[in-house]
Amino acid sequence: MWVSSVNEWRYFRDGTDGKKRKGYWRNKEIHKLLLVYIGLTASALQRVKLMDITRRAAMTDALTGAYNRRFFDEMLKQQIALAKRRNESLGLVIADLDYFKKVNDTYGHIVGDRVLQEISRIMKNSIRSSDVLARYGGEEFVIVMPSIDLTNALKKAEGIRQHIESVKFTIDTFGRSTQITISIGVASFPEHGTDYDTLVAAADSALYKAKKGGRNRVEPP
Ligand code: GH3
Ligand code: MG
Ligand code: MG
Repeated sequence: MWVSSVNEWRYFRDGTDGKKRKGYWRNKEIHKLLLVYIGLTASALQRVKLMDITRRAAMTDALTGAYNRRFFDEMLKQQIALAKRRNESLGLVIADLDYFKKVNDTYGHIVGDRVLQEISRIMKNSIRSSDVLARYGGEEFVIVMPSIDLTNALKKAEGIRQHIESVKFTIDTFGRSTQITISIGVASFPEHGTDYDTLVAAADSALYKAKKGGRNRVEPP
């Protein structure tokens, strides 16, 4: 069927005068062939789209759309290697929502989820396109900032902290809102750590300092 259809198609296409013959597009076999080609192309495109969706899902957090922990782990290691090679500094920011359990307990998990989505959106919009935001854990986010020194990383983090502090997060359809604050730890490569473990530990201890110091603040280690 394939060979005869293709031959028939050639015959109709070429004719003796090189022009398409009358009824060319009405020919049933050509219609069938075209449908087969269209079907094959569509399913190939569908497969590419599915692969893309799967690849994205493996890298991102379903709730917030930020990169996930697995992606962050790999990416930070690569960024440290790159910074070493280029002799550049690198900022690592770890942010943790303050008293977030209370938000869930008071307004429910759905509101809590929306707050996490909104905070992720604010952070994403506050960083450079070369910076990478990831959800590190439940209510913790990390930002990797390539080519930035400690002073500027602290400034960026402080800007994000102030922004979040100023936002009124909607909690219901009556327009009621609540305020959220975040504590942030900032560590810098190479002064606070020259590999993944030491840099993350430094940022973690800076975050601990911010929590201990009263929350809603930015601290270096
Ligand atoms: P702290 O200021 O010390 O960080 O207090 P906290 O209440 O934020 O910290 P704690 O670790 O006690 O609680 C974290 C809360 O975050 C508890 C958990 O229910 C909530 N949480 C974690 N992941 C999610 C999530 O995906 N959605 C919602 N709604 N809540 C989450
Ligand atoms: Mg936490
Ligand atoms: Mg918290």
